[in-house]
Amino acid sequence: MSWEQLSKRQPRVVKTLTNTVRKDRLAHAYVFEGGHGTGKMDVALQLAKTFLCREKTDVEPCGECRDCRRIESGNHPDVHVVQPDGQSIKIDQIRGLQKEFAYHGMESEKKVYIVEHADRMTVQAANSLLKFLEEPTSSTIAILLTEQVHRLLETIMSRSQVLSFSPLPSDQLIAVLQNEGISLPMASMAAALTNDTSEALEICREEWFAQARDKVIQLTEELRSRPNQALVSLQENWLSFFKEKDQLDNALSLLLIWYKDLLFIQLSEPEHLVFVDQRQALEQQALHTSQKRISENMLAVLTAKQRLGANVNPQLLMEQLVLRLREG
Ligand SMILES: [Zn+2]
Repeated sequence: MSWEQLSKRQPRVVKTLTNTVRKDRLAHAYVFEGGHGTGKMDVALQLAKTFLCREKTDVEPCGECRDCRRIESGNHPDVHVVQPDGQSIKIDQIRGLQKEFAYHGMESEKKVYIVEHADRMTVQAANSLLKFLEEPTSSTIAILLTEQVHRLLETIMSRSQVLSFSPLPSDQLIAVLQNEGISLPMASMAAALTNDTSEALEICREEWFAQARDKVIQLTEELRSRPNQALVSLQENWLSFFKEKDQLDNALSLLLIWYKDLLFIQLSEPEHLVFVDQRQALEQQALHTSQKRISENMLAVLTAKQRLGANVNPQLLMEQLVLRLREG
């Protein structure tokens, strides 16, 4: 991975860091904050390589020297990664780190430590780390990674430069999910519902969402082929499944995505589809409707979503929605 590649994912963060490297002004402590899967660890390791590589070209580490290769394989004696031991990072882990740094440093004077899930440090561990941060040496960089920046001690934050990692754009999020073994239809759906990688993974792994997706497809199919039956199957299949308000809200979000997909079919832009495996059904439905009609349906779903937030009876809400979607 190069800075250039990383800048496609996190342009702002990479620009800040590479500029500081050029000016030889790296801070002693960084907090990398942002959602799961936004590349915090990749950037931290790249920064370690940049700091330690002796064969750099401008800011790019060579990737081939002993330092680069040992960082890549996770066994550089001067780069330490601390992860939670069970639920938390304990004081002994931070003390161990300090010991390592006191005794080692055979390769060079430079050292890097990376603390993953830094918000999970116990108070004692955090205070111990703080002492470390208070006595910086020019040759040490601490990089604290966190998804929960509000849980870090103020005293740690004030001694660090905080860099915020942006959520991934949806095509990159889909790629990350697929790398985790998620199917394209599920990955596309999750990425349409959230841009947080952890949340998206949860959505994909919950059987409920796969079923909800099927129910939404069924409802739209029924509205097209058997509109008079739609109210009956709403009673039989829908209301018992989407019992909670947030479940119904998710269902309405999926329904909205479906109509957007229909619009993309009408506009001949299938590359934007979220229900990627439903192209045939979408094309069938698109034959029987117009762009104007689809826009009206989207508005109806949006209105229903708003009214759901205002404590309207869910059954009544859905019945009215189905009646509106059925017309035309
Ligand atoms: Zn190198």
